[in-house]
Amino acid sequence: MFQTTRNGSLLNKAVLVLNTNYSPLMICTARRAICLKYLEKVDILVTYKDKVHSPSITVVLPSIIKLKDFVHYHSMNVVLSRKNIMIRDRHTCQYCGAKSSSMTIDHIIPKERGGSDYWDNLVAACQQCNKKKDNLTPDEAKMPLQRLPRKPNRIHYFQQFINRDQTAWRPYLFLESF
Ligand SMILES: [Zn+2]
Repeated sequence: MFQTTRNGSLLNKAVLVLNTNYSPLMICTARRAICLKYLEKVDILVTYKDKVHSPSITVVLPSIIKLKDFVHYHSMNVVLSRKNIMIRDRHTCQYCGAKSSSMTIDHIIPKERGGSDYWDNLVAACQQCNKKKDNLTPDEAKMPLQRLPRKPNRIHYFQQFINRDQTAWRPYLFLESF
């Protein structure tokens, strides 16, 4: 019922979902958050300034919602995937600092030389750096990493979504005290 172009982009805005104990659970779209509100599964804690309109009603866009029923979810793990490595490394080549949409994944210690397929051996690299580094270690190639890659946790993952509009999220993501 809210399907218009302007509503469309607003409805894709990120919403922080909290468990009943206020621990951050996931990010969903505003579209999903509005549905959950209609189903009476969540309370809206914080809203954006934006509103979406249908012919009959106007809804203020939720920004933070809290579940009404506790979800048992202990894993703070982030799934190892190409997408999540790119998010961790901010689509930035970890060798030269270039940003590009055609980024590759580089094995710091090459696979053929025993390097693992794990967070601490995988980084975003631009095509030129990946090619230049070839089958060498960073030391051999004289291409030092800009920062040591670590396994991210979910809090880091959520933090990637914070920008000017999401300052209200900060206390829930432990960036500052209440
Ligand atoms: Zn590069």
